[in-house]
Amino acid sequence: MRRWLVLLLALGVALASPRVGLHEGFTRIVLDLPKNATYRIQERGGHLVIRLSGYRLEPERVAVKSPELVEYQAKGEELLLRVAPGVEAKAFVLEGTTPGTYRLVVDLKKGAVPAAKKPDPPKPVVVLDPGHGGPDPGAVGYVVEKEITLDVALRVKRILEQKGIRVVLTRDRDTDLAPPGEKDLWKRKVLDLKKRAGMADAKKTLFVSIHVNSAPRPAAGVETYYLGRAIDPEAQRLAVWENGGGEVGQRLTRETETLTDRVLKDLVAQANLAFSTQLARTIQARLSEAARSPDRGVHSAPLYVLRYARIPAVLVEVGFANHPTEGRLLARPEHRERIAEGIAEGILQFLANGAYAFK
Ligand SMILES: [Zn+2]
Repeated sequence: MRRWLVLLLALGVALASPRVGLHEGFTRIVLDLPKNATYRIQERGGHLVIRLSGYRLEPERVAVKSPELVEYQAKGEELLLRVAPGVEAKAFVLEGTTPGTYRLVVDLKKGAVPAAKKPDPPKPVVVLDPGHGGPDPGAVGYVVEKEITLDVALRVKRILEQKGIRVVLTRDRDTDLAPPGEKDLWKRKVLDLKKRAGMADAKKTLFVSIHVNSAPRPAAGVETYYLGRAIDPEAQRLAVWENGGGEVGQRLTRETETLTDRVLKDLVAQANLAFSTQLARTIQARLSEAARSPDRGVHSAPLYVLRYARIPAVLVEVGFANHPTEGRLLARPEHRERIAEGIAEGILQFLANGAYAFK
């Protein structure tokens, strides 16, 4: 018999309390969070702690007494879960039920097999895509985009590998990925972007494309993009530019828009997009902190390189090549190291939250 008992403990306070559902074999905690809030999950003193940033919880202490969860305590930016011994937690995100929100879901379940016999989970594989290269310099200002993207990608690779993460680069030198004989500019860009996108296959864990911004009017700061229609003209302009610029960029942007509308009707793609959004938010928050750069936010845009990703995939703009201050900063190795640290921290945080095992 399958009996579902759902306890709604949010007593009239929308968006302020966690929702707890008691199910056969597991307990589910759901937090409705605004899109700008990030979270971190860690173990502390026998508790599972969900630390929020950019959002506060109504203070309360509630006894749940399910086989998996003894009680929870909400205070400020922390949600403390007192879990039963041997319980494992798995966290994931879903699109929110109202615009501007997302749902953080944490499932608590008793470990099915003894810890010693459990096979090792597959090691994460991160794909880093240094934008442009070879005949395509990307943005040129106080720095040349293709040089900065490669340098930053190599730094992120080094940091992640030190943490035991496997890293695959789409390029590790000054080249694009189009066949050497191809002379047609349009075909070159399509083949180049297709090859990069093709590396975001299901055998990998996540995909991060690294770029440098430029703007007609000087601006400064960092931005992170996931696949979708552009909401504002700035995101549209950026998509055209990163899709090859000029007529090539216009054409690839239109093609990506049509594809995006179709792809996003697919349920798997929708779930993947929720993860991409979360990855974008996490990287954006850590990057703007580490690089001490203005936070220009997370946006959606019809970016060709992200369009067929089977895994969480984002594009990061690490600063503006043509901004008098930021352009010069990008030329400095210590600033690029801070950028790399921010991106790596974002990736590590996302990986840690995605499949968290509580012991
Ligand atoms: Zn670029």
